[in-house]
Amino acid sequence: MPSSQRRPRPGQASTVSPANENRPVDAPEPLDPSQATNPAVAPVSDRRPSADSAGGPVPASPPSAPGTPASSPGGLLDSIFSSKSELFRGSREVLRDSYVPSRLPHREQQLRQVAEILGPALRGDLPSNLLIYGKIGTGKTAVVAQVRQDLQRRSDAASGITFITLNCGNIDTPYSLLQTIANTFAKTEAERIPTGWSLDRVQSGMRRLMDARGGILLLVLDEVDRLVARSGDNVLYTLSQINTELETARLAILGVSNDLKFTNHLDARVRSRLNEEKILFPPYDATQLQDILRDRAREAFRDGVVDPGVVERCAAYAALENGDARRALALLRLAAEMAERDHAKRITPDHVVKAKNRLEQDIIIDCCRTLPPHCKVLLYAILQSFERRRTGVLTGEVYDSYRRLAERLGLQPLHARSISNYVSELESLGLIRATIVSRGRGGRTREIIVDVPISETMPALEEDPLIAPVGRPKPRGQMLLTNFDNPARTGPF
Ligand code: ADP
Ligand code: MG
Repeated sequence: MPSSQRRPRPGQASTVSPANENRPVDAPEPLDPSQATNPAVAPVSDRRPSADSAGGPVPASPPSAPGTPASSPGGLLDSIFSSKSELFRGSREVLRDSYVPSRLPHREQQLRQVAEILGPALRGDLPSNLLIYGKIGTGKTAVVAQVRQDLQRRSDAASGITFITLNCGNIDTPYSLLQTIANTFAKTEAERIPTGWSLDRVQSGMRRLMDARGGILLLVLDEVDRLVARSGDNVLYTLSQINTELETARLAILGVSNDLKFTNHLDARVRSRLNEEKILFPPYDATQLQDILRDRAREAFRDGVVDPGVVERCAAYAALENGDARRALALLRLAAEMAERDHAKRITPDHVVKAKNRLEQDIIIDCCRTLPPHCKVLLYAILQSFERRRTGVLTGEVYDSYRRLAERLGLQPLHARSISNYVSELESLGLIRATIVSRGRGGRTREIIVDVPISETMPALEEDPLIAPVGRPKPRGQMLLTNFDNPARTGPF
């Protein structure tokens, strides 16, 4: 079971598609934050409607045209796919992680602190760098998103603030981080930094693009602890001293970490620069979680459909899990899903119990979905080998299978060393177990065993556009069953 501390944020799968360019080793495919679903960068003056943001509300499908044939004999599928829900008031997105609620109960103090630190940007002054840290599900991302929305509302086109939000959990290497940041500023295709440049050239290209944008750049590095655990803090050093080299732009960094001891892993200079201000987000207790859930339940569900005890039970379970609001919301969402499947008119505490059992499995799937691209390919290679052999697989073999898969996908394989780090990361997420085995004079290697249900995990990865081209052919009907079985995996809700 992945530890709740380390699992990546569900629902934030990267939108990477396999690219065919020649890339240097360890400089994987570019993540393109300018793609439609990624609001990574938005000049604050861009007043976008909220539906424009990642995972924003999905527009309801238009009603079927008159004369459209019945969707299935006897209306069987009509009843399943009927868009009108007895439980939900409107969009189910309200219960998703990507939804930014209008109110964040029990985070007033943190909201005020973040706003006070970023506020000077509205007057054209560079804010201090800020480090936000707290366990998973303590509202860090939500608070930053809300302050960002608020800043966007208040600023006008003249204020020259650009907000960039990146989730470092989805980014493989420091190289792709810098390239991604740089390309958020590229206005045309020709300005984009291609993959294949040296790191130095990417850095100077990034500075040039930043200066061309000018003004104050607020860079949010969410889950920055994952990047540092993976590849050290050099990239943070580069970013934290960039103002000495920029001419017209100035950068402030907001690091967000799920690891409370994150700063212990930083070089003293980087630590003191990033730590100019820091804010701790404490875990929620059960009563606070109830308040959060009640707000959301009111927004999400029709009146009277949530039985007494439902919110309390979700909150109690999540309070035991480090006060994780994400876990609490996921339980409520799944409980509603269980109720719908039972064709129940109300959500009951029993549905919460069922949801709790189900959640473990979904966390694994979410965890896989949010891995960085090469790590996904590696995990798929491990699953394939394990499925064939049903015994432990040695790292050398795993690396070979990974390399073959990466090549088939048009990706330049990473070095064995990077892959070895990813093996450790997959192990720390609880997806695999690796034990050191001695190979006589051949030295020591690691034997890998899969620690998740293959029958669930492989299809989940195969649904990922990155892995799909090398996935197994789908038996007829599997798609429907898989999706229906776990709608959270593909569709909205
Ligand atoms: P973190 O970034 O600390 O892991 P998030 O900000 O992603 O946590 O929060 C997880 C989920 O819980 C999100 O759906 C978020 O909207 C919700 N949430 C967290 N704190 C609050 C709060 N105080 N009020 C309402 N919703 C909250
Ligand atoms: Mg977060």
